[in-house]
Amino acid sequence: MGGVTPAGRRGFKYETAANGPMIDDAIRVLAGDCTVIAEDTDRSEYRGRVTTIVKPDNTVLVHDIDGYQPVAWLTRADSVSSDRTGDFTLVVKKDTQTLRIAAHDQDGFAHYPASAAGTPVGDCPDCGGALVRSSGVTCVSCGDRYGVPADATIRDNQCDCDCGLPKMRIERGLAFNVCLDRACESLDAAVKQAFDREWDCSEPDCDGDLRILRRGGLIAGCEHYPNCEVGFAIPAGVVDGECACGLPTFETGSGIRCLDATCDRALEGALEADSAADD
Ligand SMILES: [Zn+2]
Ligand SMILES: [Zn+2]
Ligand SMILES: [Zn+2]
Ligand SMILES: [Zn+2]
Repeated sequence: MGGVTPAGRRGFKYETAANGPMIDDAIRVLAGDCTVIAEDTDRSEYRGRVTTIVKPDNTVLVHDIDGYQPVAWLTRADSVSSDRTGDFTLVVKKDTQTLRIAAHDQDGFAHYPASAAGTPVGDCPDCGGALVRSSGVTCVSCGDRYGVPADATIRDNQCDCDCGLPKMRIERGLAFNVCLDRACESLDAAVKQAFDREWDCSEPDCDGDLRILRRGGLIAGCEHYPNCEVGFAIPAGVVDGECACGLPTFETGSGIRCLDATCDRALEGALEADSAADD
């Protein structure tokens, strides 16, 4: 297979227009009268005036005029390259599958800057572009990204931080409103200030306090670690009382629970009060 362009993760080296948006990720589009050959254990050949879309994760979709389903596709291919010897404009490979697309008559071959699409949540203070929420928050124009916990809410018209970014509302024992940019306003620092050493370790023989730490997510872990291994992920919810076990209870989207997810005593107090009322 001489002449095959070595392909990186994206298969292409994209050149961004000097005055265009500085976005690394691009969607490549090839349109025209093409022959498309899909090979695995069997072989299918198509010809038509089609549009092929190559996404940054090497997903390749060949669309014709009918319906919503592509004529041919490979999702998250290992490589996307061109084969000049065979005159194939695109050669897509994944495991034993190959997709070859040759353009007899090109209507267009271009790449376009692409971003995540999501719910608009405000304007980028750096460039004025639209900020959208998908898995994180991304600026559609300059590509700035902010990691956002899945349960955080960001509302348009919510008050912005002094830095100009929207704030996110997130429940970690209390409802916190913090800047999207952790470097500007730290959720961890806010939770620490509220709950560090606030609760006692639940191990009967341990006199430790629970410290607020980040281990992937935020946890309340015993100060005597590693001698004491008590540690709990802080639930997405607001502290609303004390469990029969002594730890705090949280009101979450799925009900009242103990800080200790394995403890089922969170509702004991409430149940006793109910049965007392019944008597
Ligand atoms: Zn921006
Ligand atoms: Zn800020
Ligand atoms: Zn402990
Ligand atoms: Zn409990």
